[in-house]
Amino acid sequence: MADLFDNKILCKDCDRVMTKGFCIKDGFKIRFLQCPKCHSRTFHPVDKKEYDDFNEIKKKEWNVKLRMVGNSYAVSIPREIIEFEEQFQREMNNIIRMTLEEPTKLSLFLTKRKLIK
Ligand SMILES: [Zn+2]
Repeated sequence: MADLFDNKILCKDCDRVMTKGFCIKDGFKIRFLQCPKCHSRTFHPVDKKEYDDFNEIKKKEWNVKLRMVGNSYAVSIPREIIEFEEQFQREMNNIIRMTLEEPTKLSLFLTKRKLIK
């Protein structure tokens, strides 16, 4: 499918052809078009939506119960977290990497997605 940004898009103020660029925010690559004259930016709608969706989820906090399952403890991961990570959904039998980051903080790593820094 052709990408919107493959078209020549003009800056609405300067009437100049905008050039492609990208920035990295929290590991997300966000493409944009930038006017060479006034430097105003138009972000790619797909990239911007993914980043906005991430920020909506990031704001949330869940309280989940710890349950005993055999000799282990189990917690439920809210569906919207799993559904956000599409790659993780596709590989449902994934092994989740887990580390005790601080005495009271447990980190789960859902995918092998490479965060861009
Ligand atoms: Zn401009």
